[in-house]
Amino acid sequence: MDTIKYVLSEERMPRAWYNIQADLPVPLPPVLHPATGRPIGPDDLAPLFPAELIAQEVATERFIEIPEPVRQVYRQWRPTPLVRARRLERMLDTPARIYYKYEGVSPAGSHKPNTAVPQAFYNRQAGVKRLVTETGAGQWGSSLAMACAFFGLECQVFMVRVSYNQKPYRRALMEAFGAQVLASPSDTTNAGRSILAQHPASPGSLGIAISEAVEVAATSGGVAKYALGSVLNHVLMHQTIIGEEALLQLEQADDYPDIIIGCTGGGSNFAGIVLPFLRDRFRGGRAPRIIAVEPAACPSLTRGPYAYDFGDTARLTPLVKMHTLGHAFVPPGIHAGGLRYHGMAPIVSHLKELGVIEARAEPQLRCFEAGLLFARAEGILPAPEANHAVRAAIDEALRCRDEGVSRAILFNLCGHGHFDMQAYIDYQAGRLQDYDYPAEEIAMALAGLPTVG
Ligand SMILES: *Cc1c(COP(=O)(O)O)cnc(C)c1O
Repeated sequence: MDTIKYVLSEERMPRAWYNIQADLPVPLPPVLHPATGRPIGPDDLAPLFPAELIAQEVATERFIEIPEPVRQVYRQWRPTPLVRARRLERMLDTPARIYYKYEGVSPAGSHKPNTAVPQAFYNRQAGVKRLVTETGAGQWGSSLAMACAFFGLECQVFMVRVSYNQKPYRRALMEAFGAQVLASPSDTTNAGRSILAQHPASPGSLGIAISEAVEVAATSGGVAKYALGSVLNHVLMHQTIIGEEALLQLEQADDYPDIIIGCTGGGSNFAGIVLPFLRDRFRGGRAPRIIAVEPAACPSLTRGPYAYDFGDTARLTPLVKMHTLGHAFVPPGIHAGGLRYHGMAPIVSHLKELGVIEARAEPQLRCFEAGLLFARAEGILPAPEANHAVRAAIDEALRCRDEGVSRAILFNLCGHGHFDMQAYIDYQAGRLQDYDYPAEEIAMALAGLPTVG
């Protein structure tokens, strides 16, 4: 019998997250204070995050135990299935063995609750009353709103204005969970007012929305803290439960990936599936090819330099070394596929510099085409972000066909696209177009990079 689905029982759900910082051959560069240019300490982050998350950000232990209340919530949808895409393989007439780890089974429809739940838990434990955050398409905002409802926290979300107007259903979901949602830039913060003064019709960006959320948390006198859905080390670590489960499931399949693929916005779902496999590699095990896929409209990993930059537009955050398009980057409105952050997780950027991972940029039309092909074969309509990973998985499978080689391809199907139907309607109506971010625009955004001594 052809096995389709590799299921782990609840008892076999991993008990710890994996911290790659224990095994990196070269440690991460320090995070710097923008005023002094010196490495920051825990006190600098205390206005924004509870002590436990600050500790996880710099932890060096290899494994960090998942608290029981978090495991309880995870067990509602975890372990998630690992599926062998046999109908897709047949459709492509490929000898490749294609596996996808499906994170769309979470209540919010993506991998984001894997970190929203522990973040809400640790904040609740520290006596915080309210979490403030930003959201682009609304995936992160709805995941955090759900987690705050579980742990009795208030939730305030600055939603990028263009999405606020175009994605009323994600906004409605956040409000259903009890969150307050504001369009960003808003007139409720100094950061928002200053952008509106210069650009009254600003469509907003993740960088601007982060500035507003950070400002609210930092000036709340400890009542509110800030939560980020990607990029930071502790966020990537919470996502490693994806790869830890996949390792066990592939053992059941008696297989091991030759290629691992994830899409990259801030880098969290990619890191979640990839990092546990890198533990094998750094400790003398096998070395699969690892491919990060980003949109050509926001090409931080493939075209942004590896440099110190701010995480937000108003320059309120510490300086982190990452692949960046510049903190002033505002993504083109015609890009429908998400993954619009100007920077990339320091861990993912560092792995790229070490030559451990590859990166490629894909234009959006090829990604939507791949997503529809996948939907017709497997019945799941991927989130537009996930289509970038689907595209690369299909391309690698087609290469297997051309070369007559059977390779195992594993990719992270990080979310479903049920809230993104407008993007699919626009694609099917021929209203989407490809967009390569122009070199001059990148040069202009990069001219504003901070100088670090
Ligand atoms: C948020 C999101 C992403 C991008 O964020 P990463 O941190 O790069 O994972 C990708 N896919 C989905 C479905 C998302 O919700």
